[in-house]
Amino acid sequence: MSADFTVEQKNYLGGFVSGIAALRSSRGLPPIGGAKGPHATSPTPMPEPAGPDAASHRAMARVEAAGKKLADAERAKREELGLDSYPRMVKAAREGVFPKGDDVLRWRYHGLFFVGPTQQSYMVRLRIPNGILTHWQLAGMADIAEAHAGPYAHVTTRANLQIREVPASDGIAVLEKLVGLGLTCKGTGADNIRNVTGTPTAGIDPQELIDTRPYALEWHHHILNERAMYGLPRKFNVAFDGAGLIAALEDTNDIGLQAVEVTEGHGVAPGVWFRLALGGITGHKDFARDTGVIVPLQDATRVADAIVRVFIDRGDRSNRNKARLKYVLDELGFDAFLAEVEAKLGAPLTRAPAGAIAARPDAGRQTHIGVHRQKQAGLNWIGIVLPVGRMNVDQMRGIARIARDLGDGELRLTVWQNLLIPGVKDMDVPLAVAALEALGIGISASAVRAGLVACTGSEGCKFAAAPTKRNAEEIAAWCDGRIRVDQPVNIHLTGCHHSCAQHYIGDIGLLGARVSVSDEGDTVDGYNVLVGGGFGPDAAIGREVFAKVKAEDMPPLIERMLGVWIERRASADESFAQ
Ligand code: SF4
Repeated sequence: MSADFTVEQKNYLGGFVSGIAALRSSRGLPPIGGAKGPHATSPTPMPEPAGPDAASHRAMARVEAAGKKLADAERAKREELGLDSYPRMVKAAREGVFPKGDDVLRWRYHGLFFVGPTQQSYMVRLRIPNGILTHWQLAGMADIAEAHAGPYAHVTTRANLQIREVPASDGIAVLEKLVGLGLTCKGTGADNIRNVTGTPTAGIDPQELIDTRPYALEWHHHILNERAMYGLPRKFNVAFDGAGLIAALEDTNDIGLQAVEVTEGHGVAPGVWFRLALGGITGHKDFARDTGVIVPLQDATRVADAIVRVFIDRGDRSNRNKARLKYVLDELGFDAFLAEVEAKLGAPLTRAPAGAIAARPDAGRQTHIGVHRQKQAGLNWIGIVLPVGRMNVDQMRGIARIARDLGDGELRLTVWQNLLIPGVKDMDVPLAVAALEALGIGISASAVRAGLVACTGSEGCKFAAAPTKRNAEEIAAWCDGRIRVDQPVNIHLTGCHHSCAQHYIGDIGLLGARVSVSDEGDTVDGYNVLVGGGFGPDAAIGREVFAKVKAEDMPPLIERMLGVWIERRASADESFAQ
């Protein structure tokens, strides 16, 4: 350091240099200038990482020290975490080019999903905590979709919104405009914690034990702003269920926090707690399992944070197929896993015997559509039918207007790929329903249509073996005119094993499959057919009954399956799963 500097200047420079060193170290980079002295030609040892990325970098180093190869995505994340790629994304947008190689993963940290070759465009996925947004946000989304994307949006199975067909040059403009609306896409893709879901009727539900909104919101802001939460080996899902009338499907999440009432006389304070369930991933045929742990409501974020940190330490970073919490739990066992969580927390978790938990009221099967009374006297939510989650921009603006003029100004998305307009006065319900009908939107549907869930499918996803949304519509259209189903029935269509529409939990689940039609290797769209899935108290993984059925044969097959069930069931309320 030059002797001409004053003491203050030297101190400043000293801090500056050590700051750069710490930053390089935290990213797994060698010191400036590389190794020196007699060992200069030897490989530079990886410096001990520091800072918020340290835990994930240590986990990667352990994989290599064990002689295993890091998954390509892990290597890419160590070289540059997607969060730090924003300036290069801006440059790419100016040049009108899509990402290549590892940058496809990195851009997803900002919610830009390049979906080529299926569509040479971006899909943009938002974060909408607890699935709740305002009328002006939905109207603003319509403006953005019209200006920069296909003129429509999809409601996803994580109570979220996606827009598609965004050109390379428009990706940044979309992100900036969304921030202007008070929305964000940060961390919505790649190996991050996904949109936080909660009970969609939180705060208005007559049977809820708690309002999930403050807990979902606290977790949302925590994961957005705590850099260590971006160091996961794979994606991660967290849900809060308040025991309301619409199922939040919390047991399909890595962490399911389920409001329960603890009764007196079991050595823990009676009242409402979260019951902790872990390891749900229905695409791998597992629901979240009860841990026996109960969490004080105000500690939800702290406990979830500790769980994620154990996952960061322990998750598989060499095999992407095994890099989910379920596999950590399978390997360690629940007791050892929870002991590590307690070590992170620096305090024991609270256990409660199953007998201490009061029976919970069931969610309804069709409470997400139609008019339902809120706990506030004289007010209602209206659940509207959005076939396979799609609405065009005119419908988005119209729904927003109805929410503003006749509701409380909010909209609530559900994991059933539809949305609710809450806060509608009794006297305004007929007008709101008529206004929705004028938009071509209904509030009632056949049992088949009401329980239809479909992933993006081959019209927008390169993994799909079939156009799930189109085929779902075809099934509903065929069945609606031919068979009357008098009970709720859920039909879930997923295009591939990633299971975005959770085919394993449907009464009927369809998993996309290519069906061979010639000896020359020609194939057509089709499905493997499963039956007997369920969720909540009826949680069950569906089992395959038909393999490789052509998509064109699915509508009559589903009709026949429903017909056999109706004919043979022992009573009118025997569910399909039974
Ligand atoms: Fe794509 Fe597969 Fe997810 Fe469907 S389930 S959206 S095909 S990744």
